[in-house]
Amino acid sequence: MKKWEFMPDIKNQYKLIPWILKQFHNFVFQTEKSAFIWKLGERSLSYTVHEKGGGKLADVDISLAKESGSSPIAETRIFSVGLTPMKNVSNVDKGSISIELKTVGKRLKLAEERFDDLYNRFFPRDENGLVDWPKTTFWEQIRNSQRSKDTRIDLPLSQCGLNCIFCSTPVNGYNLKPEALRLLQYEQLQNAALEIGTAAKPGLRLQFFSTDPIAHPDIVSLVKLGKLAGYDSILIYSAMMCELADGLLSELIDAGLNSLDVPFYGVTAEVHDKVVGRSGHFECLMKVAREAVAKRISFKVHSVAMNINSHELEKIPKFVKELGGHFYDFLFVRDDGCSRVPVRELTPRISDLPKSVRRRLNLSIPCLGVGKDFRGKEDLTGASLSDRIQKDKDAHLDSRYKYEFADKCKRCKKRHLCSGVFPPYLEVYGDEEFEPFS
Ligand code: SF4
Repeated sequence: MKKWEFMPDIKNQYKLIPWILKQFHNFVFQTEKSAFIWKLGERSLSYTVHEKGGGKLADVDISLAKESGSSPIAETRIFSVGLTPMKNVSNVDKGSISIELKTVGKRLKLAEERFDDLYNRFFPRDENGLVDWPKTTFWEQIRNSQRSKDTRIDLPLSQCGLNCIFCSTPVNGYNLKPEALRLLQYEQLQNAALEIGTAAKPGLRLQFFSTDPIAHPDIVSLVKLGKLAGYDSILIYSAMMCELADGLLSELIDAGLNSLDVPFYGVTAEVHDKVVGRSGHFECLMKVAREAVAKRISFKVHSVAMNINSHELEKIPKFVKELGGHFYDFLFVRDDGCSRVPVRELTPRISDLPKSVRRRLNLSIPCLGVGKDFRGKEDLTGASLSDRIQKDKDAHLDSRYKYEFADKCKRCKKRHLCSGVFPPYLEVYGDEEFEPFS
């Protein structure tokens, strides 16, 4: 049997999964013996099946295996093999390809037994189990990809384990089998490392986002890389307070984390825990707050204004200040289409919110005293929020989301300073509270 080689040469290769499949291509498809020719697409996991000396017969997709919902030709702990024959392919050929694909599945299973070895060689670890970045084969690539701006890393794969009522992340997430998720997380780890690169000048910030960065099994290694790479500020946005309180925050701080951004949905466990759908979360949040302040890292707090917590919102900034943190924004509920509770039920009427809350909302609506003075402030991409509102007729504070205006806003003299509201606000509350400036 052919001896396996695990010496990655990933020059110009930024995707771990296709790279791995390429290593196993001849073994998995038995290319020398097969009655067909199997061609791996350059940039994806799709293959085409050709008749020897003839035309294309079928497409084959090798995707990551899901816990439920697919009906593949073959499936392993990690991969799922699907077949799409060309229209004119005979039933005999279809049958032969299906039989071969079942064998492909068996060989993929054998190949997967070597993956742990491959991960270990690809991401060598130190005595603490953290990735030893200078020993990775792509260390030179990391060092050569110099960053001169703040870097934002999205780690969207992992679930936070909470059930916040406004959240629109699917409850089942990616629904991948655990081993498939692990492979994807390794790919994400490599991509994130290359994205982090090195800080080409002092003062740069590295920020980790998405649901939820600390759920990535190698988040401590990534923070360590950020420090090694010369970033001055390393920040994580997280809602996983119980995991942080359970020792992870200390590990992250030791690795180089110096800024944490967390949500407070109320000043009592009763309200906060109800919003996140997990009892005991508020208690963990207090522990995290105390540790962050005691260890002198920057402790930032935001909140989301909803009907369920509107009576406690006003108290949050003072409460956070007394803890030693810095409260910066109330976010307004936006409709992503699949929040746990319909956005209509969550959304507060803006003019019912206390003035002090309105001033700190992440919208800008002059006639309601909503929004901070954004002049001089930059968003995460480095763009000025006020510039964005003023230059862009659609007035996007955040380009990922839709905003809308009432008809009467057309005659408002301050329309150019206004962000508008998220749909379906006008449908729920109408436009009575808005007063155009003349
Ligand atoms: S009237 Fe309309 S455009 Fe003018 S500030 Fe109010 S919401 Fe904005």
